[in-house]
Amino acid sequence: MSEQQNGPTTRRVSARVGAIAESATLAVDARAKALKAAGRPVIGFGAGEPDFPTPDYVVQAAAAACADPVNHRYTPAGGLPELKAAIVAKTERDSGYAVAPEQVLVTNGGKQAVYEAFATLLDPGDEVLLPAPYWTTYPEAIRLAGGVPVEVLAGTEAGYLVDVEALEAARTPRTKVLLFCSPSNPTGAVYPPEQVQAIGEWAARHGLWVVTDEIYEHLLYDGAQAPSMPVLVPELADRTLVLNGVAKTYAMTGWRVGWLIGPRDVVRAATNLQSHLTSNVANVSQRAAVAALEGPLDAVAAMREAFDRRRRTIVSMLSEAPGVVCPTPQGAFYVYPDVRGVLGRTIRGRTPTTSAELAEVVLEEVEVAVVPGEAFGPSGWLRLSYALGDEDLAEGVGRLVGLLREAT
Ligand code: PMP
Repeated sequence: MSEQQNGPTTRRVSARVGAIAESATLAVDARAKALKAAGRPVIGFGAGEPDFPTPDYVVQAAAAACADPVNHRYTPAGGLPELKAAIVAKTERDSGYAVAPEQVLVTNGGKQAVYEAFATLLDPGDEVLLPAPYWTTYPEAIRLAGGVPVEVLAGTEAGYLVDVEALEAARTPRTKVLLFCSPSNPTGAVYPPEQVQAIGEWAARHGLWVVTDEIYEHLLYDGAQAPSMPVLVPELADRTLVLNGVAKTYAMTGWRVGWLIGPRDVVRAATNLQSHLTSNVANVSQRAAVAALEGPLDAVAAMREAFDRRRRTIVSMLSEAPGVVCPTPQGAFYVYPDVRGVLGRTIRGRTPTTSAELAEVVLEEVEVAVVPGEAFGPSGWLRLSYALGDEDLAEGVGRLVGLLREAT
């Protein structure tokens, strides 16, 4: 049957939802896992999550919470008061940003915070400046809210960092929001403090809102810093939403706890939305997040050390590949090599002309899963997560570099 089952004007799937692309990062990860399950020696660089277990004291707190019937019930839709208090304290401790509990909404992961931020801020046709390469979820969340993502590309030569000039060139009377993410997924780039300040001052000058995603705040290398934009530019605070979560800092991706911090009226509105969407985050997960936030930052320090070691290995190995330019990332756990110099060359009888085709050749020929740049903006790059064991990392990158050396 055609899509039009109920008459000529209705469709089975709405245009709005039908237009959503599958999350390319989750798709690559799923494909790699499926091949692995079928016995193929696939090494996956697609995952956007730490390969460490959640710290023990967090798991213990969750186990204790499970046993207490008080946690078998709903919490307030916007989150447990204890967790909001812990988020307030953590934000002051880590960012020097003083906020009130009424400015916090606890969400189902940072991802729901992204969705709710745009749903709460955007009217149809409102434009969002989206520095590219961008995390694959942002444009979908913007479009679902009726907004228009306006990509502002910063490529390899720019160190994947947009500047005020480029943003200003893309600004129109419809521009309402700037999306900012530092350290960045997918590039691992970190904005220097003076650039954060310059961008914040520019946004404040033009009355723009800023949605700033700080989920990788603790994964910084080489002495890099990632100050919170509304701290550097206090006049922006009344038009800033800060997004964050426990996923990356405490290896808690599966627990699904994130949050959004913003002005009271916006947070109230977003909480109303969430009260009809998902209600509260799982009670036990919120208790686990309280333990995580009130605990030390030792676990992330240990992870950072391992990530840093792998980062150095992966950058130096990839830099050996002909046609590849691999900038050294200063944050998160991704590298974003520029592979435009490989495209159009022939590898084992195939001539990929896009990074998506190259990623396919790599998966099929050497069983290494990487995410093509098309998931994050233009073709021509690959994203590799280095959140995997040192041996797998060396073996997988070795296979990839060996294959690229065959290009003629
Ligand atoms: N923001 C960025 C930039 C991310 O990379 C991710 C995870 N991939 C998230 C937010 C959301 O993380 P979660 O929903 O697992 O908390």
